[in-house]
Amino acid sequence: MDRSLRGMGIGLRSMESDDGVEFAERVHVVYDCPSGHSLVVPLSIEAEVPMVWNCRCGVEAYARDRGDAEPTEVRRPRSHWEMVLERRTIEELEALLAERLDLLRARRLQPVH
Ligand SMILES: [Zn+2]
Repeated sequence: MDRSLRGMGIGLRSMESDDGVEFAERVHVVYDCPSGHSLVVPLSIEAEVPMVWNCRCGVEAYARDRGDAEPTEVRRPRSHWEMVLERRTIEELEALLAERLDLLRARRLQPVH
């Protein structure tokens, strides 16, 4: 009875030590402090990356790169520049079309010999 219990205990302990040998993958998250400091914090890849980290100067530093979190850039609204570019292209296309129509009209008006 006593011996069998001890045996189970040893078995469990050996399993635990096997798990303990594994190292969790780490990711280095860079935090930028408003005072100009940058912190590199090694975090477990499975842990949730906090957006804010307390800097050594006592100010809150913000995570520079959240790795492959949500792709927020995909859904960002079009910038003013992009809209300007878009309009310009349409204008250019319209100009080209007008040019083509003029050419066609000119050709049609030319006397055929
Ligand atoms: Zn700082």
